[in-house]
Amino acid sequence: MKLAIMGGTFNPIHIGHLVCAEEAVSQYGLDQVLFMPTGLPPHKEILNGAGLEDRYRMCAIAISGNPRFEISRYEIEKKRVSYTVGTVRHFRERMPETELFFITGADAVLEILEWKDPRELLAMATLIAATRPGYPLNRVSKPLSRFLIENRVKIMEIPGIGVSSTMIRGRVSGQKSIRYLVSEGVRQYIESEGLYRQG
Ligand code: ATP
Ligand code: MG
Repeated sequence: MKLAIMGGTFNPIHIGHLVCAEEAVSQYGLDQVLFMPTGLPPHKEILNGAGLEDRYRMCAIAISGNPRFEISRYEIEKKRVSYTVGTVRHFRERMPETELFFITGADAVLEILEWKDPRELLAMATLIAATRPGYPLNRVSKPLSRFLIENRVKIMEIPGIGVSSTMIRGRVSGQKSIRYLVSEGVRQYIESEGLYRQG
């Protein structure tokens, strides 16, 4: 069994996240990708115009219909920011037989590797770093090149998707279309709940 966790704020989930997860399934033969929306302090949720349950529901809507995609409430139940290493440890302990992966984009992988001690994380899970327009990975930092050599970090080429959640929120508040940038169910949810209108 090969399981990958994909963490993110998903505020909202968009096609960049979905393409990334789908590519990981096909390139690494994964059985399942577990989408893991992060918890956030309540004041940040209000500023962003979408609550924790909204982010969770949009993820659930976006992944429905893909039998390899699942969603977890593990981090949002904590209602605060979790460290990736803690989340991975939780699953490592409960699934000793499972080969674990953690999927990030090119921006987030560098943050993870700059942490105090990425070694524990990399001992428990292989990190899959997806290419992302605007975040070059060719000028790799020292820590990344070391872990690449050790094969604990894999760079995954995916079709470049220049979409971010920040862009989606900006387009909604600027009354621009987000059709095809998010899945249709998510677009309808954002519209019917009136999310992100205030910018
Ligand atoms: P925001 O603009 O709010 O930061 P985001 O689009 O970066 O949102 P996150 O929820 O922060 O989305 O990202 C979750 C994970 O998905 C991160 O590892 C991020 O690098 C990755 N990711 C997001 N968008 C893309 C994309 N277009 N291509 C590749 N990876 C992506
Ligand atoms: Mg981000």
